[in-house]
Amino acid sequence: MCNAKANMSENDQTNRPGRGQSKGEGPKGDQTPKKKEGEAPANKALKAIAALAGKARGQKAEAKQPQAAAKPKGESAPKAEEPGAKRPPSTRGEALIAPKEGQKHRPAQNRNSVKATVRQQAREENPTSSAQPPQTQRRRAPQRQPAKQKVPAQQPIMPAPSTSSRGKLKIIFLGGVEEIGKNITVLEFADDIVIVDCGSIFPKEDLLGIDLVIPDVSYLQRNREKIRGILVTHGHEDHIGAIPYVVKMLGGVVPIYASSLTLALIEMKLKEHRAAPNAALHVVAPGSHVNLGSTLQADFIRMTHSITGALAIAIRTPMGLVVATGDFKVDLTPVDGERMDLAKFASLGQDGVLALLMDSTNAERPGFTMSEKSVGETFDGLFPRAAGRIIIAMFASNVHRVQQVVDSAVKYGRKVCLTGRSMVNVSGIARQLGELRIPQGVLIDIDDLDDFADDEVVVITTGSQGEQMSGLTRMAFSEHRKLDIRQSDMVVLSAHPIPGNELSVSRVVDQLLRKGANVIYESLAEVHVSGHACQEELKLMHALLKPKFFIPVHGEYRMLSIHKSLAMAMGTPEENIYVPKLGDCLELSRDSMQLGAPVPAGAVLVDGLGVGDVGNVVLRDRKHLSQDGLIIVVVGIESTTKNIVSGPEIITRGFVYVRENEALVDEAQARAQSCIESCLAESERIDWSGLKSRLRDDMHDFLYQKTKRSPMILPVVLET
Ligand SMILES: [Zn+2]
Ligand SMILES: [Zn+2]
Repeated sequence: MCNAKANMSENDQTNRPGRGQSKGEGPKGDQTPKKKEGEAPANKALKAIAALAGKARGQKAEAKQPQAAAKPKGESAPKAEEPGAKRPPSTRGEALIAPKEGQKHRPAQNRNSVKATVRQQAREENPTSSAQPPQTQRRRAPQRQPAKQKVPAQQPIMPAPSTSSRGKLKIIFLGGVEEIGKNITVLEFADDIVIVDCGSIFPKEDLLGIDLVIPDVSYLQRNREKIRGILVTHGHEDHIGAIPYVVKMLGGVVPIYASSLTLALIEMKLKEHRAAPNAALHVVAPGSHVNLGSTLQADFIRMTHSITGALAIAIRTPMGLVVATGDFKVDLTPVDGERMDLAKFASLGQDGVLALLMDSTNAERPGFTMSEKSVGETFDGLFPRAAGRIIIAMFASNVHRVQQVVDSAVKYGRKVCLTGRSMVNVSGIARQLGELRIPQGVLIDIDDLDDFADDEVVVITTGSQGEQMSGLTRMAFSEHRKLDIRQSDMVVLSAHPIPGNELSVSRVVDQLLRKGANVIYESLAEVHVSGHACQEELKLMHALLKPKFFIPVHGEYRMLSIHKSLAMAMGTPEENIYVPKLGDCLELSRDSMQLGAPVPAGAVLVDGLGVGDVGNVVLRDRKHLSQDGLIIVVVGIESTTKNIVSGPEIITRGFVYVRENEALVDEAQARAQSCIESCLAESERIDWSGLKSRLRDDMHDFLYQKTKRSPMILPVVLET
């Protein structure tokens, strides 16, 4: 039986549902007789949530579980879905109707090894293949030109199919609402689905050890055949960060449409993750027009934002036009001179906009956001004041800001050195695409830095958010291989700390100041401007687009709700505005907007290579371990003679410092010994799991009484 390894180290996972760990690890909780390691409560909760969620329309809804969506839902498998909405598409029918772009509908390939994905795929296979009701409705499928062919903007809005339940346009919010991050919105009409953006979000502090959080896309997995593409507004992480994972989950062949810089960043990610080597990547530019399936089309419109290549997307549907602004600000003097296409928005507004989804990040801020150019002016003012080196930290993706530093450097006769992995990568891509222009001879290698006098160089690096491994943080803490901070350095943090990063940023600033550097950050000079529109800019967009229905997105609840008030002040009736929640599905006709049945939405946690395999049980254990530590009791017992042949030995991690607590550990050992002996004496045959739970309870009581702490207790009983 218990052939557990004796050499449990602190790295050993306590969570393997292996033998010998049949109960919940908690000393008190989860005393469930199940072998499944404390999962029952989670499942129960799930079912309760599922039951609630399913009330609407009596639909069998899946649990809207906040975490690890992939994990426990496996059993709530394929059943009939919401009538109409998820009626499985007939892929055969599609082939007859409209020829799709070349790259679509390759057979699913590139099945990856990620557990969660495989699990989900398994439960996805069924619903679509069987029990397909015959399609009662012929879809209108005008022969469209192949993708990427540009056609004039004014296209007649297509006639609506009959007003069955299928005749509605659905807008589904899988992320990016009531939060800043993991933006992903789904538009669905009949058998066509398009996805707008597919971002990630950084984990909050309570998600111990989690690297990244991505949206739950089980709805998309279930409707994989309908997906006509992912349209990406721009290359920030909160819009592209989940693409490698989601593309894998969807079988690796989803076409992606984005501007050249955005697409280059996506490609870099896909390569890093070895995801979708065959992904169909389509470059679009302002003015591009793309057909998506037989009912949807998209136009791309130039925007200004804190990254180049930002686009708004206008999606033509049989119900009307839907405009998603993506992230933007109205920068009338952009660094590259390419203003956002206000005229296009005005003309869309003239044609009639059914629904508008707009960035709400800065909805709380009155006035206008300053032009990016104003930062360049600040740099120009700072450069002559620097006696030594200038070190500027910023987001690598803000190509225009890098450009402005380069411009100031050229003006003041300094060489430019780029350092930090993402800074080097993104700048490299931007230079190749011609979006970053560095004159010959200006760029120098970090190894050559010391060949130049201090007042002849500018270093551009990452780390404006105080990130642990970034260039600036390493320099501040003398961990950078090539560069240490000197007294004469001027260090500029050209960014605003993202909420949650304030502490790490101030830690870095303090450290830089300790080293004597002249540190300049946002509150001291205008070294940063936001990339998002303030209230007056938002109002401008409302005025131009005059949407029938308005849906604020990209923001926490208060930002969305303030944006709602702004829209009302601009004349949109309250009943035509909806502040969405995660998992909401809006159903729109030409003149109505209703809330449909919700779809599964939430967070999938990424930890190392595991996607969705870390759920509540694991997190609870991590929390427990982090708060009270771990005690392992190892004992060897000969099954025939019922003698203790080795141990019990007590191993502790994160509980007490053993050398200073030898008496306690000795006492614990004696206590364990007597507990085991009395257990063994009680019956003829050894009840191994009973022995372990007795040992656990007994040790817990003892340690709690002695220390008022409840460490995780892990008995390891070796049968010899
Ligand atoms: Zn964003
Ligand atoms: Zn952005």
